[in-house]
Amino acid sequence: MSESASQDTKGQGGITRAALFAWCPCCTARTLWDAPAAFAPSCRACGLAFADYEPKGRGLYLVLFPVTLALMGGALAVDDALMPPLWLLFPALAVIVPLAMIVALRFAKALVLIMRLRAAGVLR
Ligand SMILES: [Zn+2]
Repeated sequence: MSESASQDTKGQGGITRAALFAWCPCCTARTLWDAPAAFAPSCRACGLAFADYEPKGRGLYLVLFPVTLALMGGALAVDDALMPPLWLLFPALAVIVPLAMIVALRFAKALVLIMRLRAAGVLR
């Protein structure tokens, strides 16, 4: 694999590790998340200030809106196809919907964090 190809794929694994395993993009300590979808103020290992690069506000609706549509479509499709009883469907949705939102927010925030760190010159 060439040097440039390695650089192109390097960030994608970093996004997954940051989103799912809370790895700090700089030092890989597991310090990124303080809440399900909120950054810790800073890395406890290397001191990188995550809060300075955290995306906040209405821009995150661009992530949540398509996820909401997909979840609604999925719930309707499952209801049409399987006709599950409500006592089973509602608790399943009460678990699946928050998990899907948290995972989507984590991936979006990790992506923005890494892009902002690269733009600031903190990451190569
Ligand atoms: Zn760190």
